[in-house]
Amino acid sequence: MAAPLSLQLVAECRVTKARLCRLRLPHHTVLTPVFMPVGTQGTLKGITAGQLEALDCQICLGNTYHLGNRPGPELITKAKGLHGFMNWKRALLTDSGGFQMVSLVELSEVTEEGVRFCSPYDGKETLLSPEKSIHIQNALGSDIMMQLDDVVSSTISGSRVEEAMYRSIRWLDRCIAANRNLEKQNLFAIIQGGLNAELRRVCLTEMIKRDVPGFAIGGLSGGEEKDDFWKMVTLSTDFLPREKPRYLMGVGYATDLVVCVALGCDMFDCVFPTRTARFGSALVPWGSLQLKNKQYAKDFQPIDTECNCPTCQRYTRAYLHTLYKSDTAALHHITIHNIAYQLHLMSAIRDSIEEQRFPLFIQSFMRRMYGSAEHYPGWAVEALATVNVRLE
Ligand SMILES: [Zn+2]
Repeated sequence: MAAPLSLQLVAECRVTKARLCRLRLPHHTVLTPVFMPVGTQGTLKGITAGQLEALDCQICLGNTYHLGNRPGPELITKAKGLHGFMNWKRALLTDSGGFQMVSLVELSEVTEEGVRFCSPYDGKETLLSPEKSIHIQNALGSDIMMQLDDVVSSTISGSRVEEAMYRSIRWLDRCIAANRNLEKQNLFAIIQGGLNAELRRVCLTEMIKRDVPGFAIGGLSGGEEKDDFWKMVTLSTDFLPREKPRYLMGVGYATDLVVCVALGCDMFDCVFPTRTARFGSALVPWGSLQLKNKQYAKDFQPIDTECNCPTCQRYTRAYLHTLYKSDTAALHHITIHNIAYQLHLMSAIRDSIEEQRFPLFIQSFMRRMYGSAEHYPGWAVEALATVNVRLE
């Protein structure tokens, strides 16, 4: 059966591996490369579905582990899926719940059957199996579902990485078999293999055989060296089929996004822009502003004069500085700006790919972000050189 998505290549960069694609999903057509803000419990922290739509966000992420526990799949089904529950009409991607293994590792145990958790809500032991994960995601009705994978930290090596990689392949087969909504939901495989190139190649070969609608590059962005990170990314994009979407999980720093687009990735997600907003940090093309710092107390400019988000249209740095000390509304305003920043960055990247000036875009992005070449991160310079971009 044909997958309920199609990927149309609109433009390919003639220098790098970057591509501009039209990804048609059941609820919405998304232009890639795309950044997907992360929501939890049906809503993004600090922002509503309506505000996300006003920022022209095309696709966002729902968190299966949290939604599977509270309010639970039965209630979500009654609410006409996560789209109805959130009142979000555009595309949605749900994770498998597996990532929580790393973040709640002291509460979990991985066996061939699945992951056994002690629920942080009621202390009850629950099993998240590949079948259960797909059952929940089928109830949520997301456009893209993620397979349950065996996640290991990217900083460990040895036999546990190999075990997790082979188990993730077996769990992919169980997820494919468990999917009850082939017509309307796309299941993505997650490539594992840690920082071991040989294991990554084995995983890629096996998963590509499964002919799933899309592929994610997993198990990275967990504190590994950037030199290892980008090599695993580019190895994966070299292997993955051209006509299917490639989702790099957990990546959201601006520089990482620009470099990984150049390496051929299409989709990204990360809690960073919303998490950092809650610490009063606003993203700007030259880095970030720590709005709680005294220097902004009398600064009557917006966060970024070139940003046209609702926050920058209405509020000054001085106002946000004062508000931050007394009111959570400041976090809300900064969250909106940070998401607008991410979405705007991706749309500028897409325009530059379409107009065959992405290599020039990279040059000016890096200059603005780091000032001069001596401050450029070495890994980015090296990674970009492999796709024919020599930073000046
Ligand atoms: Zn703004």
